[in-house]
Amino acid sequence: MGKIGFIGIGVMGHAIVMNMMNHGLEVNVYNRTKSKADDLITNGAHWQETPAKIAENSEIIFTMVGFPADVEGVYFGENGIFQADITGKIVVDLTTSTPSLAEKIAKEASKLGGQALDAPVSGGDLGAKNGTLTIMVGGEQSAYDKVVPVFEAFGKTYKLHGGAGKGQHTKMANQIMIAGTMTGMTEMLVYADKAGLNLEKVIETLGGGSASNWSMNNYGPRILRADYSPGFFVKHFIKDLKIALDEADKLGLTLPSTKLAEELYSRLADEGFENDGTQALIKLWWKSN
Ligand code: NAP
Repeated sequence: MGKIGFIGIGVMGHAIVMNMMNHGLEVNVYNRTKSKADDLITNGAHWQETPAKIAENSEIIFTMVGFPADVEGVYFGENGIFQADITGKIVVDLTTSTPSLAEKIAKEASKLGGQALDAPVSGGDLGAKNGTLTIMVGGEQSAYDKVVPVFEAFGKTYKLHGGAGKGQHTKMANQIMIAGTMTGMTEMLVYADKAGLNLEKVIETLGGGSASNWSMNNYGPRILRADYSPGFFVKHFIKDLKIALDEADKLGLTLPSTKLAEELYSRLADEGFENDGTQALIKLWWKSN
């Protein structure tokens, strides 16, 4: 396998690159803030000065930045990926972004003689660290088959869901579900606390029954430790919920529970917690935290 390129060394990107290197892959890295890549470079990753340089010097190029506007910038901007010759190469966007941008990237990649996959992930910071992410992919089968050996380095479950944009649509389905588990877990804890129950015991007991879910099992204990570090940023979840609601609207659907989750998270951000992890939703009730 030729060199892998990776743009966006944040909470997720950093852990994914570490897993790629642990699987023996050679990785070129770029991030807006270089210092976040320092320890990866010490461990053998190669720094490149721009996204275009990453694309020039890598065979498969991964991106995992924050918002759709960041994705637009690293692909189409000055010194962006599409400034390089990407003939025969594959670009893979792991960012949670819009299906329409995924389609636009796939079109441009194809025009330039390359291929593109949209491949957003689920499983949180811990899934990224443990190399057990779920990867939801859209794009051509031939590109998917070539990238699977790299997915194996950081994912446990991966599937192709159709053409360009279908990975992002699958991720939106995932986020619509998460909207329910996060609000459900939060209200459950608020209620159990007020009723005078032992919250650790409640989480343990509910985890063994039909209310068990990933949000409670992973974020519940963090809330009890008053650990609101991200994890998964509130600002990114709001971005995802807005994309989901926008896509639902295009499909002629109304999703009242998802809409309510978006309103609650927006209120949390307005109160100054947009850079907390999503478990901070409980701060709308537990003001002292
Ligand atoms: P993050 O820590 O903010 O990482 C994003 C990284 O991208 C940052 O290091 C940022 O640089 C870099 N970046 C942004 N724009 C850039 C640009 N134009 N050029 C180069 N680098 C750029 O966020 P994260 O938690 O890793 O999440 C990344 C994406 O994955 C988001 O779309 C999020 O919704 C999604 N996601 C997150 C999780 C999770 O649990 N964390 C799970 C699934 C999906 P700076 O260092 O300069 O800020």
